[in-house]
Amino acid sequence: MLSTRARRLPASSTAALDAHIKSLLAGGADIINLTGGELDFPTPEQAADGAREAIAAGRTRYTPVAGIGPLREAIAQRLATRWGVSCEPAQIVTTNGAKQALAQVFTVLCEPGDEVILPAPYWVSFPHMITLAGAVPVVVDTTGTGFKLTPEALRSRITPRTRVLLLNSPSNPTGVVYGPAELQALASVAVEHDLVIVSDEIYGDLVHEGAVFTSVASLGPEVAERTVTIGGFSKTYAMTGWRIGFAAAPGPVAEALTAVQGHTSSAPSSISQYAALAALTGDTDTELARRATELNARRALMRDGLSGLPPLRLAGDPQGGFFAFVDVRGLYTRPDDGADTIARDLLEHAGVAVMPGRDFGAPDHVRLSYAVSAEDIVQALYRIAAHVKSS
Ligand code: PLP
Repeated sequence: MLSTRARRLPASSTAALDAHIKSLLAGGADIINLTGGELDFPTPEQAADGAREAIAAGRTRYTPVAGIGPLREAIAQRLATRWGVSCEPAQIVTTNGAKQALAQVFTVLCEPGDEVILPAPYWVSFPHMITLAGAVPVVVDTTGTGFKLTPEALRSRITPRTRVLLLNSPSNPTGVVYGPAELQALASVAVEHDLVIVSDEIYGDLVHEGAVFTSVASLGPEVAERTVTIGGFSKTYAMTGWRIGFAAAPGPVAEALTAVQGHTSSAPSSISQYAALAALTGDTDTELARRATELNARRALMRDGLSGLPPLRLAGDPQGGFFAFVDVRGLYTRPDDGADTIARDLLEHAGVAVMPGRDFGAPDHVRLSYAVSAEDIVQALYRIAAHVKSS
């Protein structure tokens, strides 16, 4: 009954594992869950007020497909003031989470069989989004180059079918943040070979002390005119359930994204759009700064704790986002061990849930989220240490 495309598409492994852990927790299991991809902070009050006001005022109808004008203006302004990206409100398409923007962008940019180059480790959904659009993911392993794609590696994988370079800085799952010179070097290759850059910058506001975020489209007009920037409210404002993301794209791409969206899902929820608008225009900076400090402290706890656990090797200091990516080969004792079996052991014997790296293109790593409380981080590391000692 199913199409080949549907048969080849597995359910999201991260969502499935998260659901499994949540059902174990609901059954009373004593588990510390480090698999999640969302911050434990609440929705900012300003955003919740914006939503309540929208409901009270009856702003509960279809909105323009690309989103309400004031939200598109506020996003364009935010990109300009915070990230140095200049674009017009007409270039902004608001979507049902960044996920929808990403899922649609490959359909808009690629002919069937076109190739999309992406570095591994990658966010689990990227290859499936590319395949669903009829394009071909070309994965470049970056474990030997500090989890960063180099211009040489990029160049070596370009073929006449290459259409898109997909970047994600700060990265889920590795936490690496590319510097401006690194991005410029990659962008120059993209310009030379006429590639479009899709830059997933959803963690761009969550960069830790010591690192600086650079938006690809801020590198200059020659780069901006071939770059689609993806962002959203899920991570910056801890508003995962509101489902508001966006693409900032060259005019024709924004129009095509709007057309696809118009025929599939229409605009995202009007109420959520007003919440997002209030988050952007309200006085949320103090609260965001407090959260950034807290996240930085959690990162330090995770990093310092892991450095005292030698069989686990933190693969680089996470510079942005909220994940630590750990090489677990030091824990292998059985011939068929992999990150999957280590994750299962940690869940069953230590009561700590971590995300195995196979579906991120890194089968010897696990991902630990530090989007949880400091107490949970300390307790999880304590449990992992006790398990490592006893095994
Ligand atoms: N891009 C990356 C790299 C992510 O990690 C996520 C969520 O985990 C998304 C996009 C999707 O975010 P949203 O909730 O806005 O759909």
